[in-house]
Amino acid sequence: MTMPQSSAATRTNLPVVADEIFRLMSAAKPYGRREAFALLRSLSPRRRMTLPETARLLATEDPMVWETAAVVARAVKEEVFGRRIVLFAPLYLSNECSNNCLYCGFRRENREARRITLSAAQAVEEARHLERKGFHRILLVAGEHQGKTAVDYITGVIRAIYRETGMRILHVNAAPMPVESFRALKEAGAGVYQCFQETYDPETYAMMHPSGAKADYAWRLTCMDRAISAGFGDVGTGALLGLNDYKFEVLSVIRHAEALYEAYGAFPHTISVPRFKRAFGAPITVAPFPVSDSEFERVVVAYRLAVPSAGVVVSTREPAALRERSLDIGASQISAGSKTDPGGYGDGVRRHESEQFEVDDTRPIEEIVRAVLRKGYIPSLCTSCYRRHRTGDTFTEMALDGHIRDYCLPNALLTLAEYAVGTADADLKRRCLDAVEAGRRDLGDSALRPEFDRKLAVVLAGGSDEHF
Ligand code: SF4
Repeated sequence: MTMPQSSAATRTNLPVVADEIFRLMSAAKPYGRREAFALLRSLSPRRRMTLPETARLLATEDPMVWETAAVVARAVKEEVFGRRIVLFAPLYLSNECSNNCLYCGFRRENREARRITLSAAQAVEEARHLERKGFHRILLVAGEHQGKTAVDYITGVIRAIYRETGMRILHVNAAPMPVESFRALKEAGAGVYQCFQETYDPETYAMMHPSGAKADYAWRLTCMDRAISAGFGDVGTGALLGLNDYKFEVLSVIRHAEALYEAYGAFPHTISVPRFKRAFGAPITVAPFPVSDSEFERVVVAYRLAVPSAGVVVSTREPAALRERSLDIGASQISAGSKTDPGGYGDGVRRHESEQFEVDDTRPIEEIVRAVLRKGYIPSLCTSCYRRHRTGDTFTEMALDGHIRDYCLPNALLTLAEYAVGTADADLKRRCLDAVEAGRRDLGDSALRPEFDRKLAVVLAGGSDEHF
């Protein structure tokens, strides 16, 4: 198997070489219990699981090894981020796309799709809806269409939302673009740039993406290099699980993360774990390489242990029970109350013919907040690091040293208190405020405590956006 030629100069120099990953997989000997436990005991945020170790762990079937790995993954996550779980929502701007991905409802040849591209004013309305629900960060998502979703359109939407709502940070999931377009996106105030390679196997990639700009594997693989050189400290990666052998994809994502770290000193800010879902009007209706729930859990564990500083993101593609389980084994961010059809929040009507894929966990944010609290975690609507310059290599270093969590807890509590003040649901308000009080005690005699108490009083009196 050969790599396609790069269509762009890159400092990471197309690191994900399929042959290398396949070789690693075929040489990977499953761990015996004793060896596995020795490895797992040694892991920490600073002592991440290496690529060969990950390959061996993924080759191991022993359930007891995986149970222990899950416990270690949770401990590593809590060393990095504490008990907070970040909540966010996607805002789909457009389902126009000139690509033809075989698994996606937005594909050009889906004649049954009802095409929608939100105007900036409509996007603002959607953002207002999410803001009323309590969200302060949203992920803007757009298909790839030169005429409809070019960078000027996206920057126009970003500026309008910042100008006309109280939204605090806007992340962007959009097609790969040249450096100057990334620069424009960054100047408009985008936080994280997110783009999934979908599959890192060039042959599967070519089959799944038969036409359109997305057919260029190398252009996509190098997009993070361009985004970073345009000023994005934080990028988000991932593979769509189900298109190919999941072990290959997981190892490739980790290899990509390592290459970014080697080149720029920062691991990806997030790694998402999307699993194939049926999409209206897509020719492929079942995953060619189905990933079971227990394999999905292993993926979450592996990402956490191999890239401890990354936010591991589980979306509403997954069923509620699995999403909740994922919080116990390494996931640190979840979307909530998501709609994947442009304009879907405003009227509350689900339009299957406009969706990118079917959502499984349809619970509204209020129920997600309750579920996260029930599990003993702290729902967080924090956006502070992006606005306090804790990004890129600074973020990676602080996360691995255990300093980010010193900010995560107080910021999670302040945003949860703000959420509690804003909710009309008396029972939910009480539960949130109880959690804030318990978390406040956990702060103990932290250096931030006096300032935290002052900020909390401001929030409880109706103030907003208090953060560290
Ligand atoms: S303090 Fe930083 S890492 Fe922690 S939740 Fe807030 S933005 Fe995220």
